[in-house]
Amino acid sequence: MKSSGRAIFLSQDEIPTKWYNIQADLPEPLPPPLDPETLKPVNPEKLLRVFAKELVLQEVSNERYISIPEEVYEAYRWLPRPTPLFRAKKLEEYLKTPARIYYKWEGVNPAGSHKPNTALAQAYYNAKQGIENLTTETGAGQWGSALAMAAAYFGIHARVYMVSASYNQKPGRRVMMETWGAKCFSSPSDQTNYGRELRKKDPSNPGSLGIAISEAVEDAVTHENTRYSLGSVLNHVLMHQTVIGQEVEKQLEIVDEVPDVLVGNIGGGSNFGGFSLPFMGKKLKGKLDARFVACESSAVPHTTKGKYTYDYGDTGHLTPLLKMLTLGSDYRNPPIHAGGLRYHGMAPIISYLIHKGYMESHSYTQTAIFEAATIFARTEGIIPAPESAHEIRFVIDEALECRKNNTPEVIVFNNSGHGLLDLSAYELYNSGKLEDFEATNFSYPSIVQGD
Ligand SMILES: *Cc1c(COP(=O)(O)O)cnc(C)c1O
Repeated sequence: MKSSGRAIFLSQDEIPTKWYNIQADLPEPLPPPLDPETLKPVNPEKLLRVFAKELVLQEVSNERYISIPEEVYEAYRWLPRPTPLFRAKKLEEYLKTPARIYYKWEGVNPAGSHKPNTALAQAYYNAKQGIENLTTETGAGQWGSALAMAAAYFGIHARVYMVSASYNQKPGRRVMMETWGAKCFSSPSDQTNYGRELRKKDPSNPGSLGIAISEAVEDAVTHENTRYSLGSVLNHVLMHQTVIGQEVEKQLEIVDEVPDVLVGNIGGGSNFGGFSLPFMGKKLKGKLDARFVACESSAVPHTTKGKYTYDYGDTGHLTPLLKMLTLGSDYRNPPIHAGGLRYHGMAPIISYLIHKGYMESHSYTQTAIFEAATIFARTEGIIPAPESAHEIRFVIDEALECRKNNTPEVIVFNNSGHGLLDLSAYELYNSGKLEDFEATNFSYPSIVQGD
C-alpha cells in the first residue's frame, strides 16, 4: 500500500463519464414489474405517463454502460463531485485494529447526502422532455430536499408529499425544500383523492412513505405536463448512483488497495447499490473476491426477515408490483430516527443479490447504531446520518473481529450523509432516552410468487 494523507481526492476531470448498469452482468434477467390491474408484465408504454421517457428506457435497459449527458456531467461538477474517500485512521487507532478502514463521504454537497446524484439526472431528463412539474414523496426529507435542489438547478417545479409525522416533527428539511422553491404538502394531504379519503377516515393519520408515494403518483397522472420521480428502489436510480462506486474504484487504485469487505446501509438500496454494484460486476465475473454487507434497521428488517416475492411499492396499490424482499406494503414502519430506512420493500437488484447469496445483510437496533455513530464522531469528526450509522456499527464490530483474529482486512464503506438535521435524535441518545422498537405485525403480501 502506498502512503497517503487522510483524504484521497480525484480531480473534477475524473468524474466517471458513464453509469454502470449491472443488469447487463446479472446471471439471469430480473423478473419484470407487473401491472397492478392485470398482474401481467407491465407494458413500458403505460409507465411513460408516470416517468420521463429516458428513465423508462434506462429502467429496462441491458446496456452495460450508459453515457452521462453533458448537462448532468456539468451538474455533477457543480455539486461538486468527485467526493473524497477517507482513511479512518483515528477510528482504526481507537479500535486498535489491524484492519484498514476507508469510507466514501457523500455528505459534502448542499443537500447533505448521496441523493442529488440521481435527483440531478432525473430533473435533467424531465426538463429535456419539456416536463414542467415533478412530483415525489419524502420521509424525513432527504430525498425531497435533493429533488428540490435539482429542480431549481434545471428550472422546473417540484411538488413534494412529506410524511405527516416528519412534516410536523422535522421542519428543517421542509424549510430547505421551500427555500429551494419546492411546494411541500403534509401527507395524507388535501391535494389528492387518496389523501382526502384517508383524512376523512382519520384526520390525524401520521402518514407513511407508502401513502405519500400513492399521492405523488396520483398527482402526476392527473396533471398536465407532470411526471413522478422516485429517489430509490428502481434500477435507473441505482444506476445513476454508480458514480459513487466508480470513483471509489479509482481512489482505491491510487492507494493500491483491494477491498475485502464492502459495506453500506439499505433503505431502498440506492446508496449501497451505487457504491457496491461496480464492484459486484467484478465479483460476478470472478475478478474480485470480496464480501458485500448491507445493513438495515431491526425495526424495518426488510431483507433479514422479508419475503422474496411480488409486492406493491405503495400503500394505495397504484404502482407496478416489483419482485423484491418485502415486509408487505401495509407494514407500519416504527418511528425510528433513520427515516431513510423506513420502507417496506427493497430494490429488486439488491433483493435479487441478497436472495441469491451474493450479498449478506444484517440488522441493528437504534441504540446500537447511535453508540457506533458517537464513536465515529469522536474519532473521525463527522456526525453521520442515523442511516449511515448502521454500516458504521457493522464496521466497528468487524474491525474488532479483525483485532481478535489478527486479520488485516481492507474494509470500505459508503458514508451516505451527515446527521446535522438529526440532532434531536442524538440528544435523545446522549441523555439515555432513546428507545428501541421491535418489528411486529408483518403483513406479507398475499400475491406470492416467490421461489
Ligand atoms: C435516503 C437515505 C438513505 C437510504 O436510502 P437508500 O436509497 O437505501 O440509499 C441512506 N442514507 C442517507 C443519508 C439517506 O438520505
